[in-house]
Parts: sequence; structure tokens; C-alpha cells
Amino acid sequence: MRAIRQSNKLQNVRYDVRGPILEEAQRLEAEGHKILKLNIGNTAPFGFEAPEAILADMKHHLHHAQGYSDSRGIYSARTAVAQYYQSRGLKDTQVEDVYIGNGVSELITMVLQAFVDDGNEILVPAPDYPLWTGAVSLTGGTPVHYLCDEENGWNPDLADIESKITENTHAIVIINPNNPTGAVYSEDVVRGLVDIARRHDLVVMADEIYEKILFEDAVHHHAATFAGDDVLCLTFSGLSKAYRVCGYRAGWVMISGPKHLAEDFLEGLTLLANMRMCANVPAQHAIQTALGGYQSISELIGPDGRFYEQSMLAWRMLNEIPGVSCVKPMGSLYTFPRLDPEIYPIDNDQDFVIDLLRAKKILVTHGTGFNWVAPDHFRLVTLPDVDVLEEAIGRIADFLEDYRHR
Ligand code: PLP
Repeated sequence: MRAIRQSNKLQNVRYDVRGPILEEAQRLEAEGHKILKLNIGNTAPFGFEAPEAILADMKHHLHHAQGYSDSRGIYSARTAVAQYYQSRGLKDTQVEDVYIGNGVSELITMVLQAFVDDGNEILVPAPDYPLWTGAVSLTGGTPVHYLCDEENGWNPDLADIESKITENTHAIVIINPNNPTGAVYSEDVVRGLVDIARRHDLVVMADEIYEKILFEDAVHHHAATFAGDDVLCLTFSGLSKAYRVCGYRAGWVMISGPKHLAEDFLEGLTLLANMRMCANVPAQHAIQTALGGYQSISELIGPDGRFYEQSMLAWRMLNEIPGVSCVKPMGSLYTFPRLDPEIYPIDNDQDFVIDLLRAKKILVTHGTGFNWVAPDHFRLVTLPDVDVLEEAIGRIADFLEDYRHR
């Protein structure tokens, strides 16, 4: 038989947070090493429990959640999502404007498949959550990266965005709060992004999965609020992060704005939803409970909360390492420190991360894995408790000390 090759469609598709670096970590584990995995934002292994009400709801519904549901999601979940956005100030959000998916991940790929044609350009931030770039490439579209400016708190550079718009540009992706940088955009920035979309007739795709993980005085602004009724806005969020149930796979996309102009696209999206039958039904039952009940996330992000304490510890400790600088994270579960290239002349940051892994048994993700433009950053997940995090950053500091002197 001839060699079986992957399809050409995958030629430009990458997803490095689970790529060769994880394979190397698994190889080391198989040899008996204990690896601290700080490469993905998976809360459960770090001792975070889902709210009890979510578990109770899933258990309660397990028996009669055996069948497929409506492809777009069960009614109570879709109503809860529509009402949630109404309570956040969005007008005219209806149950039929909500699609439930197996996490935001599935919806990102479904929406892009339904929306993008070969050669269409989609503006994606650099750095980004790499599923966005990979999923655009998979459709045959072209991800065009706009810069987020580290010197300006990792805010998107609006002038850079304007300069990259062509007649083929169809949409802009906004990730706020941001993975990997931890930035939370001000009202002016979100308005500015939406204004660009309005002026250039772009669809806004707002990935807001970290909307509830905010520190200190950070406030989250939904892009959809400013998109109003003249810019089509797709808002993505879900239960994975704020409700600590990544494994249950529950996310949604809320369509708002001039829906009457998007009927054809939405028909395509429904077709794709139909083709994959439905999202995990027991987890869909937890959506109403999650959105309507007590928001226990507030205990994790407040002054004594683990998410907050750990993020601040990581930010402080990283900045103490010579040649390392880190913008203060205002939300999400990550820090994205910079390694001064004068002090750390790194040619290939994936190799750098693998060297760190082999030497110190800590797995972080290289910055170019987030489509960052130079091999001078890495992303550290701030989920371990302070003792473990302190130890881990200490080991990273030791590694960097050796690197400086080699
Ligand atoms: N969007 C961003 C910005 C993320 O960081 C993640 C996961 O880390 C996702 C989407 C995917 O989340 P889900 O678990 O809902 O598929």
C-alpha cells in the first residue's frame, strides 16, 4: 500500500501548545520523570473544583440526557445564554441566536468553516490563542496577524490593524481578556476595534472565554455592546474556565447585530451543527445553572483568591529575573514574559522550551506557538498553587542563569 499522507489542508495548520513540546514531556514521563505541565490552561489537575451546583445538575440530568439534543443546543441552555447577554446590556438577543458547542473550540472551527472562503483574509491578533490561526488556515482562508503592543499593555495596535485591511478582509478576531498576554482591553480599545469593523464592513469574532477572570479594577467590555445593530458580532464563551469544567466541553456562540444580513451564513452554520448532531448533552444542562447561580469565580479572582495571588506571584517573580520582563496580567490564567534578546539570544524558541523541559522538568509554551513575531517570549500558565509556582519559577530562573553564562 502507498504511504498515507495527511491532507494538503493541514499544510499550514499548527497547534503548538499540544505539539512536539508535549510529546517530549510525555517521553520524559515515560522514562519516569515528574513533569510540571504549565503549557495549557487546564484547571482540574491543579486542585480547582467545579461549583457543586454544576455537578449536581449534570448528575440530575444524566439519565434523561442520553439522546441527541437539538443540534443548536437544548432550549434552557440557549435561553440562559440569550438572557445572560441581555443582562449584560445587549439588545435583541434571542434563543435562536445561540449555538451550543463542545467547547468554544468546536464553535470556532464550525463558524470559520461556515464563513470563510479560499483566499478570504481574517485579522487575528499576534500573539493569539493559536486555534484561531490554525482554524482559519484549515478553511483555506488567510490569517493576517495584527500586532498587540507589549509596550502598551499588550493592547491591539489599531493603526497596524488599519494598515492590514484589504478588499479581501472579512472579519476581525478579538481575544479579550487575552490568552496568552493576560491583557484586558479598555472601553476605548474595544470601541476602537469595533469602529474599525464598522468602517470596513468586517464581522467581529469576539472570543471572551476569560470574561469573568479579571483582576483588581479590570472591567470587561463585550465587543457586541458597541457593535450594536449595524455590525455582526459573534461572541464566544463557555464553562471551561470560569466554571472550571474544561473536560465537560460546554461553550456557546451568541450572534448579535444585523442578523437579517447573515441569514445565509447562519443557514450554513446550522447545517454544520446538524452534521455533528449536537454538543455533549449532560454538560448543556449545566449552562443554565452556571450562568444563573452564585458566581464562585469571584472567590478565586479577589484579593485572597488563588487565581489572583498566583498570577501576581508569577508576574513579580518573573520580573525579578535578569533580562526578563513581564506585563502585569489583568485577567485570564497566563503570563507572557519577554526574554531580552541581548541577554538570551534565542534562535528557536521551541528548542529553548524543550531545553528548559529537559533540564528542569517544567513545560511552558514558546511564544511563536502563539504566532508571536520573534523567538523571545514564552507563556507560563499560572494555575499551580503559590508554593509549586514559586518552586517552578525558581527553576526557570536557575535555567536562565545557566543560559546567560554558557
Ligand atoms: N479561546 C481561548 C482564548 C482559549 O484560551 C481557549 C482554551 O484555552 C479556548 C478558546 C477553548 O476553550 P474550550 O474549552 O471552550 O474549547
